Amino acid sequence: MKITDYIKKSNKTLFSFEILPPLKGESIQSLFKAIEPLMEFKPKFIDVTYHREEFVYKKRENGLLERKVVRKRPGTVGICAAIVNRFKVDAVPHIICGGFSKEETENALIDLHYLGVDNVLLLRGDGMKSEGGAFVAETEGHSYASELIQQVVDMNHGKYLDDTLLNMHATDFCIGIAGYPEKHFESPNMKTDLKHLQKKVELGSDYIVTQMFFDNQKFFEFVKTCREAGIQVPIIPGLKPLTTKLQLTVLPSIFHIDLPEELVSEVEKCKDNAAVKQVGIEWGIHQSKELMKFGVPCLHYYSMSRSDAVKQIAKELF
Ligand code: FAD
Repeated sequence: MKITDYIKKSNKTLFSFEILPPLKGESIQSLFKAIEPLMEFKPKFIDVTYHREEFVYKKRENGLLERKVVRKRPGTVGICAAIVNRFKVDAVPHIICGGFSKEETENALIDLHYLGVDNVLLLRGDGMKSEGGAFVAETEGHSYASELIQQVVDMNHGKYLDDTLLNMHATDFCIGIAGYPEKHFESPNMKTDLKHLQKKVELGSDYIVTQMFFDNQKFFEFVKTCREAGIQVPIIPGLKPLTTKLQLTVLPSIFHIDLPEELVSEVEKCKDNAAVKQVGIEWGIHQSKELMKFGVPCLHYYSMSRSDAVKQIAKELF
């Protein structure tokens, strides 16, 4: 079922979460173990992230460098099928521009359509370490999420890449996209970022999931600005429970977000990560309750495939 239909049908806040595919070589059982404890809260959907290949340089005996292509977490499409099969819940694959030609994207979407996947989260994808963190589009690929959205919208209208083919079967994907309450880090300013977000919605996106944030005020302002700009689709807040002290520096550097001073000082007082986790859970409960009161359609948790902290939060709310 489409996420927008779940939202329309419900008069209360829904629960959902995101998982990562297991590391290559790990069994899928580790993932099932992370999902099982959260099923009692009746998630309406589970997002599965996509991780593109990375280039690793290894020194050969002769001193020359050898470039190796490594994909640490393959299996997004297969995992979606496994989740639907085992838990009877909708799985939402993340589809990225990076590493895909348009044709490979089309073929992946056909696979997903055959599998009965109704929802996709469309993203540009992160930059690559080997490119100094910059995003480099494939020669035959997309440069921005908006181009990928256009491709899916076309398929939803029965228009495939080969325009000599007529009477093609139209897919019916519900399209999710990313939004950034604290601005996407490459955008020169919030206004420009919102202009691009607005374009993604105008092209035919159905809902927005936000980057994680720890200060609800940032989300409230973001929703207000989106609504003022005419963006009317549901905006789902993404939340991540803090679990380690190291995240005080890691999260801002990876996700380009701020952590509120009050949270930082509580974490700094903690003797160990067990205490940090407790602070993170309490913060997550407080954030979630306030967002529920605000009337968000769904609370979406970045579980990082570790269910414990999300479970402690969900127990208080769902
Ligand atoms: P875009 O919407 O394309 O925007 C990228 C930047 O370009 C922005 O600064 C935007 O303002 C600007 N821009 C957009 N259109 C134009 C234009 N036409 N001209 C000029 N500038 C433009 N990454 C993964 O690799 N795998 C995942 O599974 C994944 N899941 C995610 C889930 C969520 C909920 C979020 C919030 C992010 C996720 N990411 C994931 C990270 C995401 O890929 C990065 O944040 C990426 O840098 C931007 O993706 P986007 O779809 O927002 O890009």
